[in-house]
Parts: sequence; C-alpha cells; structure tokens
Amino acid sequence: MKQSDDNRFIPMTSIHSGQGVEVAEDVYYFTNQIVNIVMLGKPGGRWILIDAGMPKRGAEILEAAEARFGKDNPPACIVLTHGHFDHVGGLVYLLEHWSVPVYAHPEEFPFLNGTRDYPEPDPGVQGGVLAKISSIYPHEATNVAEALQGLPADGSVPDAPDWRWLPTPGHSPGHVSFFRAGDGILISGDAVITVRQDEMYKVLIQKKEVNGPPRYLTTDWPAAKASVQLLNGLEPRVLIPGHGQSMSGTELREELNKLSTNFEELAVPDHGKYVPGKGGNPPLTFLLLFLLLFCSCATWKPGSGGQDRLGRKTFVIIGASSGFGRGVAEELGRLKANVVLASRREAPLREVADTIKKYGGNALVVPMDISKPEDITRLQETAVSTFKTIHVWINMAGVGSIGRSGKSLLQSRQPL
Ligand SMILES: [Zn+2]
Repeated sequence: MKQSDDNRFIPMTSIHSGQGVEVAEDVYYFTNQIVNIVMLGKPGGRWILIDAGMPKRGAEILEAAEARFGKDNPPACIVLTHGHFDHVGGLVYLLEHWSVPVYAHPEEFPFLNGTRDYPEPDPGVQGGVLAKISSIYPHEATNVAEALQGLPADGSVPDAPDWRWLPTPGHSPGHVSFFRAGDGILISGDAVITVRQDEMYKVLIQKKEVNGPPRYLTTDWPAAKASVQLLNGLEPRVLIPGHGQSMSGTELREELNKLSTNFEELAVPDHGKYVPGKGGNPPLTFLLLFLLLFCSCATWKPGSGGQDRLGRKTFVIIGASSGFGRGVAEELGRLKANVVLASRREAPLREVADTIKKYGGNALVVPMDISKPEDITRLQETAVSTFKTIHVWINMAGVGSIGRSGKSLLQSRQPL
C-alpha cells in the first residue's frame, strides 16, 4: 500500500479548516485544509467515512473520527467520491490504522491501484491563482489495491442503507456522488462545489457560490455538465460539496438550477487544454495576492519533478525577511526558481538572497512598504524588468502566527 510518489503537503488552507458541521444527527462533515470529508453514522455508533482528505493530513482525520465515534471504533468502510490527491491524501495513513475496505467506482480503479496516473493538472486553464499553481498538485496514482473494492452495482452504499451512490463523471472518469432521498441530502464530491476552487481568496474565506468542478483537474466537460444536470434533477435539500461550505433550501435550489442551466457560461473555462475546441495555454500573467503558502519545509519536499515544474518560474514574496516567507523563499531557491524578495528590511533580505543563490536559484531584493501602493507598483515593475514575467505572487505580510485558521492573514494590514 502506498500513497502516490508525488504525495506532498500542499500549503494552503481555508478559514474553516479543522471545523466540523453536523448537517443531520448522522451526517457530519469535517474540513481538512481546503477539502471536506464526510462521516455517516450516529456519534459513537457504526459509521462510514467518505473521502480521505489532503496529503499528510491523515492524523487530523483520525483525531476527528475518534472525537465523534470513540477510540477503537473504526469506520465499517471508506467510500471515495474519486481518487484525486485532495480526496485520498490521508488514505494510506488511515488504512494503516484501520483495516477496512475502500469502495470506489471501477472507472477510478487505475488511479487507486497504482496502474495509471491522472492527467497532469492544467495550470494554463482560465482561472485564479490556485489554477495557476496547480502544476504542484500531486496527480500520480495511489495504490490501495489490497483494500480496494467496487461500489455495489445496484447503487447501494455499503453499511449506509439509506444512501445511494450515483455516477457523476466528468471531473474524473469514475467520480460518484451520494444521495439520501429521505431528507434530500446530497454529497457531491467535486461534481458540484460551493466555492471557486481555483481562486485563492475565495478558497481562503470560503465565499459561498455553487460552482462546477475545479477547473484545473477536470478533463471531460460534457460529462461534467451531464452530471450537474443529474444532480440538479434530484432537487436536493442540502448539499455537502467536496470544497466549500454546505448549502440548503432555496439558496441551493436556485444556485444549482442556475449552474445546471448555464453550465457552459458559468463552469466551463474559456480556455484550457481539456476544454473542447478551446485548447492552448495562455501566458501566465500577473497574479493577485493571497496565495497562502503554509510552507512546512519539513513536509513539503518536492521531488525532482517539482524542480522541473517550479525551477523556471518567478515568485514574488512580500514578507520574505523572516518566518514563513523566508522559509518559502529559501525552499524555492532550492528548486532553482527566480525569487523576488520584498520586505521593509533590506539586510535580512540580502541574507535570504545569498542562501537562494547558494542553492542555484536567482534572487532579487526589493525593499518596500506594502502599505504604499506606489511601492507595490515598483515591486511589480522591478520584478518584470528583471525576470520578464511573474508567475506567482505570495503575500506573507503580517502572517505572524498561523494556526489552523487563515483569519490572521485577512485581518492583518500592518506594514512589514
Ligand atoms: Zn477532484
């Protein structure tokens, strides 16, 4: 059993990370960084787990499960909406603690038994900063073949008799959703989500809006559309998506209906290599703030592939003189990236620049004050004149203490 070779900590989170919501007595979802996992069953009783969260975060899921169902009460099984990295990230860790079967749609098996990698995410797809950096997302196959079983062909869900699974391909070939007709609860995985998953700012604050699947990983848009129409036809009363907060009632009905009716306009990107007749990668352009890199350097260790993907890119880091910003900058230097270092204090930036150059990366030091718009313009111009373009723009300003919440970043406006 083995997580994918490129399984690595992904340094991003939302303000709801670490929080759980009880949608019904026996339906609970828990946000793991930026993805939701669902636990079906009454507290303390027999239960099943849907999806397995972000890479390297299995321990948090285990902790949340034990808090709700008790120690030594593993789920009867784990069921997967699909096998993308952010839904199976903790899977091998959990299976090392729980010897239970894992159910998925057979179309998803190659990605879960180590035989096939997902297509690479498309960083050129139309969308926000999280789409642009999607080339760092793991896409290689996980191998849990020993535990893997097909979902029952009759649509039933093992150990959850009220529930049915439905095929909702498009985002991935064997993507499935789960529905309970009795109270209209829909668990949609990534077929429908309630946040613009490719936009960092919206992910961070979890701005609520019904959306089609995350753009950078979706490979079959016509199938994705049919899946949204199928889900809309169920007239769900409550939606628990793979990303974003749950939604219910009239708001859900209206938003889902709107997405289903105007899918091309609202969900399908204008360009991208997986968009029919709309291929091609546009140049990466100037990106907005709020890429929150929680670089835990002990866990984020891109392999040689990471160096290829990141090495030729230019990163601007505001707040690079200390703490997380400095850690991220030095890590990028190790990947031989172009790193533009900005902060009010020049001397420590020079030290960081020396470290980056020692690793083989390029560094440019720009002393500036983030509270002055003219300084931000000057930073952008200096970076572009030196490295021609900026691929990723990281604002670490004011990030002093980061817990599980991203609020500190949003609330901090003090100059560096
Ligand atoms: Zn996905």
